[in-house]
Amino acid sequence: MHDELHADLLDAFQRVYQANHFVLGKEVEAFEKDFAAFCGSRYAIGVANGLDALHVSLKTLGVGQGDEVIVPSNTFIATVLAVSQAGAIPVFAEPDPQTYNLTTDGIDRVKSSRTKAVIPVHLYGQSCVMKPMMTWANDHDVFVIEDNAQAQGATSNGGSTGSFGHMNATSFYPAKNIGALGDGGAIVCNDEELYTRGSVLRNYGSPEKYVHDVQGMNSRLDELQAAFLRVKLRKLPEWNEERQRIAGIYREGLSDLPDVVLPHVNPQVTHVYHCFVIQVPDRDRLRKYLQERGIGTLIHYPIPPHLQKAYAGLGWKKGDFPIAESLSEHLMSLPVYPGMTDRDISYVVENISDFFRS
Ligand SMILES: *Cc1c(COP(=O)(O)O)cnc(C)c1O
Repeated sequence: MHDELHADLLDAFQRVYQANHFVLGKEVEAFEKDFAAFCGSRYAIGVANGLDALHVSLKTLGVGQGDEVIVPSNTFIATVLAVSQAGAIPVFAEPDPQTYNLTTDGIDRVKSSRTKAVIPVHLYGQSCVMKPMMTWANDHDVFVIEDNAQAQGATSNGGSTGSFGHMNATSFYPAKNIGALGDGGAIVCNDEELYTRGSVLRNYGSPEKYVHDVQGMNSRLDELQAAFLRVKLRKLPEWNEERQRIAGIYREGLSDLPDVVLPHVNPQVTHVYHCFVIQVPDRDRLRKYLQERGIGTLIHYPIPPHLQKAYAGLGWKKGDFPIAESLSEHLMSLPVYPGMTDRDISYVVENISDFFRS
């Protein structure tokens, strides 16, 4: 992915090196503008990583001790950790078994009088259906924080992910659809007051140097990473289209295998295929078969958050979230990345077909 950007990335490095200013400067400001515009939103706040983007968002909205925050039962652990770090209680909602995403009905089922926020995750690159969720949230006085770490550039009814919630979090971990050359993250929002509060919180609670209005944290995006991200953001639409094209070839090649459940995309949204996830009955044997033929696959995620040791204290047990548990047993992610050759895609398709035919 970086080969064609080599010269531009080195230029970006030179620019920051020469400016000799490494934290919160012109590059971060420029990237924040670009990224907010990319999401169709007014403000962005560069932070250190995606987990902090979620955590700072929760703190900015005043979510803390005693509050409940609804999260999907099938998400990456960071979504849940952000809630605990804010001092709030994660409450799991089961996803739609077809799209793997939270729905308004799913959220409504686990809502209580203590629900303060919900974090819909646009899992694997497919946007959740956001409009009804926002209506529900506003009716119930609940904040929405989109976890957009996997779906930068996806849409719901034409609106970009990261533009619907009260505050929205994303990650620029190198493996995401747009990744830094290190860690990075951002919050996106439309409200000026929330923007100001969030900006202050990420920088020691400091509206001006050595003045501290709140007990903030240190979670800033580096100038260097911002400079790299400015270069990479220009390529993101093209990269997402390439992921979609690869997904199309997989779909066509795998469509006549009755044992393979392909990703289901809700017609109201788009999918940018951070992962191309299939469900198969004999998952571990297929993974081993492919591994032996030089094809790496991954499981997103093998252990649902409620069964992680880190959350044993919440008292959940096997059987409590059957959809998340079943997904963790049957899902696997096929290789998908910009620059993947047609030959490699066909090789994956042929080997999966051979496995089921033999
Ligand atoms: C990657 C990811 C995060 C966390 O991002 P980091 O930058 O690694 O902290 C949060 N949520 C989801 C869904 C992710 O995939």
